[in-house]
Amino acid sequence: MAGNFSRFKRVFSNRAFTGALLFVTFLYSFEETLFDFQQFRFFQLTMTLRPFDEKLVAVLSGIASLGIFFWFTWVSLKLPRNIQIIPVILLTVSSLVEYGFWKAVKRFMSDVDLHIAFSTPYSTWTGAGALYFDWRFIFPVAGFVIVLFVFWEKERTTHNGRRAWSLFLFLAALCFSYTLTGKSLSLGTSVSSFYQTIPRFIFNELRPSARADVGFQQSVAPQNNIVLVIDESIRGDHLSVNGYARATTPVLDELLRHSDSIRNWGLAVAGATCSYPANALILTGVRPGVDEFGMVETHPTVFQYAKAMGYETVYMDAQTNTFWNGLTLDDLEYIDVWIKAKDLGDDIQSDFRAADWIVERTMNDTGNFIVLNKRGVHFLYENSYPADFELWGPVPGEYTSQPELVTNPYDNGVMYNVNAFFERLLADPQILTDTTILYTSDHGQTLFENGVSWLHCNDTPMEATIPLLMLGRNLPASSDENFLASHSNIMPTLLDLMDVPDKFRVYPYAPSLFSPAFDAAGGRWFFDGSLRLIEFHSP
Ligand SMILES: [Zn+2]
Repeated sequence: MAGNFSRFKRVFSNRAFTGALLFVTFLYSFEETLFDFQQFRFFQLTMTLRPFDEKLVAVLSGIASLGIFFWFTWVSLKLPRNIQIIPVILLTVSSLVEYGFWKAVKRFMSDVDLHIAFSTPYSTWTGAGALYFDWRFIFPVAGFVIVLFVFWEKERTTHNGRRAWSLFLFLAALCFSYTLTGKSLSLGTSVSSFYQTIPRFIFNELRPSARADVGFQQSVAPQNNIVLVIDESIRGDHLSVNGYARATTPVLDELLRHSDSIRNWGLAVAGATCSYPANALILTGVRPGVDEFGMVETHPTVFQYAKAMGYETVYMDAQTNTFWNGLTLDDLEYIDVWIKAKDLGDDIQSDFRAADWIVERTMNDTGNFIVLNKRGVHFLYENSYPADFELWGPVPGEYTSQPELVTNPYDNGVMYNVNAFFERLLADPQILTDTTILYTSDHGQTLFENGVSWLHCNDTPMEATIPLLMLGRNLPASSDENFLASHSNIMPTLLDLMDVPDKFRVYPYAPSLFSPAFDAAGGRWFFDGSLRLIEFHSP
């Protein structure tokens, strides 16, 4: 008994140990208070609702997260004074980034965010910069510096150093196994979360492509053109073609009234609320709620099917000059023409140039399969249209403090960008003779309603509410208006338009929009920015 007590006393007379324990406890409690107990609540939900293996991962990753952070602080306290600047910089970087993420999207950064960050145009980041800055990152940095001053312990024996490194290796192994499982839950501080996300990101980026082959090749040249337009951040209920009070899409409204060459599925459900996962799901036909998200890396892309059916494939990206939507450089093998943001001028008229390019290509030719990733109406919305094109105003000076004004610049953006895009595309209605156009958006948008301060990548229904319509001849028969279509229906619809026989469809897909079996039975699911599966409830 006495022996145990003196051992207990010895441990706490170890300054580094005490300092590390205090700092880990401080930061964890501070962040749980600051961030509204989110982490512990997710942990509790996992313990209540998830299967045993996920519970085990959650417990082990929780121990590893806190443990590796403890190790980090402990070793920092034993470092020579002049080297302690390194852990201070490491902690400052992680706090700055993670506090910014929590402010903007109410969660820590994920590897998907990093993937997006590395390929998002610089201009988008400067626009969103204010959303991603939270001055309170100063607290952990100040706390850490104070602990370094008060509890610094000059290391005396190599014995302690060996112990520290073996502990580190043990915790690193735990963290790495957590990384391999790919679960999005991490219980721990911002520091642990940040330095677990980075290896997971690197690991995912380095992994080679594992896509299935479609395994057939058609020799007859196709007689039609197929165009898939994926818009950016266009929320379905802000289009007048879907009944919105402001006339944001008069060109489509007119078509719907007087023409039988349009079919509108109204408000549909996105596969994900973040651009990268949503695009990856659309291009592979992976079904949220049925399939694992990771299948976006193993399912063949729609380009593989199009090539196998003899189409000339075109991928137009008005947003970036790199692949960022789940495609990898391996997928280039199935893309004949790749048009990048810089080829389209990379300004607010990029989408119109893309429309002109599509018209030029499809009016004189058949056998084209074109996917256009539109530039759309990205935050800040007033940068998506010319200053003199302000139909609705005023524009809010500061989005978070004037949420009721946010729809003004957004609707101006939709009117300028979406409506004018279709005006250019459909200038000559003859385009629809041989060409079918499927239109959707990658995800919706919050528009700062209901007190939220993020744009998308979270779990509210308006972020997953998108338009879905088809333009062309021989459209599917109009059916019951009460069903809910989703991104999952796009891939099989494209395969139908290409006439891909059932026996060549490598994986089961959702029903096609042409399918008589297509209905709203069952829920619709989508992934949030952390790839958590969320059930869609109509708002
Ligand atoms: Zn997007």
